[in-house]
Amino acid sequence: MSNRPITITEVCPRDGFQSMPETIPTDEKVEIINRIFDCGFKQVEVTSFVHPKAIPQMRDADEVLQRINRPKDVILRALVPNLRGMERAIAAKVDKVKLMLSASDSHSLNNANAHTFQAMEGFKPLVERAKGTDVKIGGSISVAFGCPYEGEVPIKRHLEICKRYEQLGITDISLADTTGMANPFQVKRILRELREHYPSFHFSLHLHNTRGMAFANAVAGFEEGVTDFDSSIAGFGGCPYAPDASGNIATEDLVHGFEEMGIATAIDLDKVIELAKDLQERYPAQADSFILKAGKCSDLHIAPSAQQKIGGQ
Ligand code: ZN
Repeated sequence: MSNRPITITEVCPRDGFQSMPETIPTDEKVEIINRIFDCGFKQVEVTSFVHPKAIPQMRDADEVLQRINRPKDVILRALVPNLRGMERAIAAKVDKVKLMLSASDSHSLNNANAHTFQAMEGFKPLVERAKGTDVKIGGSISVAFGCPYEGEVPIKRHLEICKRYEQLGITDISLADTTGMANPFQVKRILRELREHYPSFHFSLHLHNTRGMAFANAVAGFEEGVTDFDSSIAGFGGCPYAPDASGNIATEDLVHGFEEMGIATAIDLDKVIELAKDLQERYPAQADSFILKAGKCSDLHIAPSAQQKIGGQ
């Protein structure tokens, strides 16, 4: 395993905020995103251009994009569900849009009101619209490692989805463990198969820590050549099926874990932790990470024997 650097995309402003029960004021969103830039992230998922009725939290997407201090070298990514969303993303000058797709028909019907391959047919006008603009398009496969309605997703399903993405000219694919059902051996198996069939594709991982396996899955992905991972500061972004379960892997846990193994992330971990603590103070019910609880490995403590000596003096 070489120590090649990895890229971490911060998704708190989209995935995290989206699942917050309380409305986050636009000013606060802008403040948090600016602080995210300051932590050194080179890619940030800033928002989702969905209908305000579908997700009221994202109603101010256009204004947020206008007001943030956008650094030149940071790629801004947004989620786009339809042509109207694509128009807004182009107008807001995001660098990249991500199309949402579910691996299983039942999850797709629930989320996009269409079967998986029907939903992919619907991507065609979006791809057409983006032609001639600077906006790049990435695809995704949600519930790639297990669907809460159907269970395991057969590999031939992934291969068929990738084939159709290729026909659309989309070769940058985010594999999402939407409800935290992945395990490391499975991550390796699926990635190996996909990379063998689609060697020119770029696969990234969007992992949820619902069952405590996200970091192990990230390492498994890294060992299979993945260098792009999503995560959310303070672990914001819950599990849609179990209100108290963890959602996205926390950025501070992911950065800390990789850095401990000598794999560079180019992220300022202390700034991330500072922001995570701030967010925890503001939204204690949503914040959850190992680093928030235990601190970094390098945070050394006074040994009990030394403490006694101090106490005895
Ligand atoms: Zn997520």
